[in-house]
Amino acid sequence: MTPGRPVPPPLAKPLPAPASGPQLAAAYGATAGDSGLVPLTVARRAPKDDDVEIAIEFCGLCHSDVHATRGEWGTQKYPLVPGHEIVGRVSRVGAAVDDFAPGELVGVGCMVDSCRECDSCLDGLEQYCENSITGTYGAVDARNGDTVTQGGYATSVVVDRRYVLRVPESLDPAAAAPLLCAGITTYSPLRHFDVEAGDVVGVVGLGGLGHMAVKLAKAMGAEVKVFTTSEAKVAAARELGADHVILSRDEASMEAANRSIDVIIDTVAAPHDLNPYFRTLRRDGALFQLGLPSDAMPPVNPGALIRRRIAYAGSLIGGIAETQEMLDFCAEHGVVSDVEVVGADRLNEAYDRMVAGDVKYRFVLDTSTLGNPSEKADA
Ligand code: NAP
Ligand code: ZN
Ligand code: ZN
Repeated sequence: MTPGRPVPPPLAKPLPAPASGPQLAAAYGATAGDSGLVPLTVARRAPKDDDVEIAIEFCGLCHSDVHATRGEWGTQKYPLVPGHEIVGRVSRVGAAVDDFAPGELVGVGCMVDSCRECDSCLDGLEQYCENSITGTYGAVDARNGDTVTQGGYATSVVVDRRYVLRVPESLDPAAAAPLLCAGITTYSPLRHFDVEAGDVVGVVGLGGLGHMAVKLAKAMGAEVKVFTTSEAKVAAARELGADHVILSRDEASMEAANRSIDVIIDTVAAPHDLNPYFRTLRRDGALFQLGLPSDAMPPVNPGALIRRRIAYAGSLIGGIAETQEMLDFCAEHGVVSDVEVVGADRLNEAYDRMVAGDVKYRFVLDTSTLGNPSEKADA
C-alpha cells in the first residue's frame, strides 16, 4: 500500500470468498436493439498482473446506455451489457498491483484501456486517444484477446489498474456512481473553461449530466442558470442550487437571458436548435455540447458565433487523472448525484422513464439484485 494512504475502514458488506481463475458474473444486458434488458451471464478474466477485480455494488444508468443498447449509434455488437458508472470494492488484485488492495472502494468510468503511447494518452487525456479508447462496454479489447468488453450492470468486472479510480470513503457509494460519467463529463469542460467565482454558467437539460453540471458549477463558485423544457423541474432546479431557471420553450424568458452567460454546458439527449442559446452568451463565451443525439441537429447560424467570438465546442468525458481530481473535489465539497436506486427488475422501466425525462436525476442499479450467474457465459 502507498505510504500515507488511509487504511480502508471495515466493510459494510462481506467480500465474496477469494476465487481463482476466471469468474462468471450475473448481469443484465440487451441481446438485440429491441430486446430490452434481460438476465445474462458474462465471463470475467482472471486478474492478470496489472488487473484489479471489483465486486460491483452500484452502477449508474446513463442515457448513453440507452442509445447503445437500442442500437441508436449504428451497428452494435450483441449481447451487450451496458454500464460505465461503476462503484464497488476491490476483491482481488494481480501480482504487480501494489496501489490497490482488497476492500478498497473504487470506481470505473467510460474507458478501460487506451493506447498509452499517443500524445493524448501521454498528456493524461486518454479519452481523446488517437488510436481510440477501449470503452467499458461494447468495445474490442485488443490487449485481452480481442474479446468484447461488457459493462457494469453486473456483479463483477476486471480492469487494468491504470483505469481504476479511488472513490473517497466519505462519499455514499450509490450516489457516487454517477460521478464516473455524468460527473466527469460536466466537470471537465467547466475546468477547461476555468470556471470560477463570478462566472455565469448555463446548463441546458436537467437530467443526469445536467444536475451534476449545476452542482459542480455551484461548488466552483459560479452563478448558474438552468434551461429546461420541463415546467415540473423549475422548483427542483432551484433546490439543486440553480440561481435562475428558464423555460426554454418560452421565447420571452429566453430573450431576457440574452448576453448574460459565460459558458453553457448543453446536455440535451435529442436534436435541438442551438441558435437561441448562442444568443444568451456574452462575448468570448462558449457552448459545450455534450449530448450525442442519434439524429442530425438543426443548422448552426455562423453569424451568431461570429458577432461575439463565441466558441461552439464538444467534450468527451475526462482523463483518468482528471476523473480522480473530480472525485476528490466532490469529496471536499460534499457533491454527489441525486439518485433513485433500482433493482434489476426495474431496469427497463427506468430506461423508459429516462427517455421521457422522468428521473431525478440518475437511476442507479443495486447489483445485489442481479441474482446468480448461470453455469455458462452468454458473453
Ligand atoms: P438524461 O438524464 O436523459 O437527461 C437529458 C435531459 O435532456 C433531459 O432530462 C431533458 O431535460 C433534456 N431534454 C430536452 N429535450 C429532450 C428530448 N427531446 N429527449 C430527451 N431529453 C431531452 O441524459 P444524460 O444521461 O444526462 O445524457 C445526456 C446526453 O449526453 C446523452 O445524449 C448522452 O449520450 C450524452 N453523454 C455524453 C457524454 C460525453 O462524454 N460527451 C457522456 C455521457 C453522456 P429537461 O427536462 O430539463 O429539458
Ligand atoms: Zn455515460
Ligand atoms: Zn492513446
